[in-house]
Amino acid sequence: MSDCIFCRIVAGEIPCRKVYEDDDMLAFHDISPMRPVHVLVIPKKHIASLTAATPEDAPTLGRMLAKASEIAVTAGSADGFRLIINTGRVGHQEVPHLHLHIVGGPDPVGPMLKPI
Ligand code: AMP
Ligand code: ZN
Repeated sequence: MSDCIFCRIVAGEIPCRKVYEDDDMLAFHDISPMRPVHVLVIPKKHIASLTAATPEDAPTLGRMLAKASEIAVTAGSADGFRLIINTGRVGHQEVPHLHLHIVGGPDPVGPMLKPI
């Protein structure tokens, strides 16, 4: 997907601060961090959102989850962290390439959402 910013990062056309890479996934620091630790983990394959993922993507998604835990600790969130996958319009997904946010740092990230 040549017009997808995250596919362009995977292709090396746009720079990133890489944290981890293997055949199936790439992790890099978010360009606008919201917490001291804010890393994105993406599949190298273009998957528009979690709702577009298929059963054949499950092994990669599972590995991304496991790797995210390792990355969080290495990046400076050894005492816990939060994983977020914004999905679609209601989820306020801005980049239409599936990505996992790892957010954390030394201090608690705060409540998940405000009560309705
Ligand atoms: P979301 O709202 O879940 O789609 O979040 C997209 C995230 O991608 C935001 O936190 C952005 O700061 C981040 N982002 C956008 N462009 C880049 C980029 N070139 N490098 C790193 N992070 C980016
Ligand atoms: Zn893409």
